[in-house]
Amino acid sequence: MSRSGEEDDNPMPEDLTETRTPPADAGADAPPPAASSHAVEQHLEVKPRDADAGPRTHIFEASDVEVAYGGKPAVSEVNIGLAEHEITALIGPSGCGKSTFLRCLNRMNDLIPSASVTGSIVYHGQDLYAKDIDPVSVRKRIGMVFQKPNPFPKSIYENIAFGPRVIGMKGNMDEIVETALRRAALWDEVKDRLKTNAFGMSGGQQQRLCIARALSTQPDVLLMDEPCSALDPISTGKIEELMIEIKQEYSIVIVTHNMQQAARVSDWTAFFNVDLSAGEANRVGRLVEYNPTERIFTNPEDERTEQYVTGKFG
Ligand code: ADP
Repeated sequence: MSRSGEEDDNPMPEDLTETRTPPADAGADAPPPAASSHAVEQHLEVKPRDADAGPRTHIFEASDVEVAYGGKPAVSEVNIGLAEHEITALIGPSGCGKSTFLRCLNRMNDLIPSASVTGSIVYHGQDLYAKDIDPVSVRKRIGMVFQKPNPFPKSIYENIAFGPRVIGMKGNMDEIVETALRRAALWDEVKDRLKTNAFGMSGGQQQRLCIARALSTQPDVLLMDEPCSALDPISTGKIEELMIEIKQEYSIVIVTHNMQQAARVSDWTAFFNVDLSAGEANRVGRLVEYNPTERIFTNPEDERTEQYVTGKFG
């Protein structure tokens, strides 16, 4: 079964070339949440959803999305509504199309010549794939962080300033850089060495630099493709704290193989699986279940979800 989340009656149309003014002290002082590394089956620490949380507003509405590479579908029939100011986790076994679907959300698949996307993805009420939508302005509003930290071989300062300069962002560049680094909880660690090469940072710092870089163009969505898979547990904890801190201002979609991570940080979780019913040659990824994270990990609707989250396959 695949299904969309709660209905959104009030999408917020906005110009994809428009920029937002962030609050000056964003992300500076929020208390860190607790992290745990308990085993999935017995003691998974699942983030409870606030009982008084208001109605969810969908920032993305995906309908019948299919992505094919060289004409062969990799993921098909995805119907899902992703909510604003939430962290949505995409989980599932390797090859079920999580990253492929994630890349649809900021048109990164456009950069893969063999990829084709059908169906529709509406972002703030606008069809992301409409002819008049500029993919560059899409990626400015919907930033992405990858599995391996990939800073440019430049100074810390220049890593952040690059994007805003390319898009001609107005404002004082020192302030833009500081704001982005503060939002990524990195400012205090690097403020005295902004001109040094980013490669001198630890892996965890490099990944937070990449998050700062993604935030520097003032996006409202952050897509994260296994952002902690190359990091140690302490750096992973810092990124998770950061995600929870910034979700008041951003909407976050994360692909993760780490179920403890999905349970700790996400509000809703989408479980994808590989459908082999038409034979191995026609394997295709499908969305099996989309529900509040607490439900996915404690009382899932679909048996396959239960089997996956309890480690029976994957
Ligand atoms: P996941 O993120 O769940 O591991 P992916 O989205 O990476 O899954 O891959 C889904 C399917 O699409 C796999 O069969 C994979 O081999 C295929 N695929 C992914 N990226 C490409 C690509 N650039 N070219 C061709 N096939 C791809």
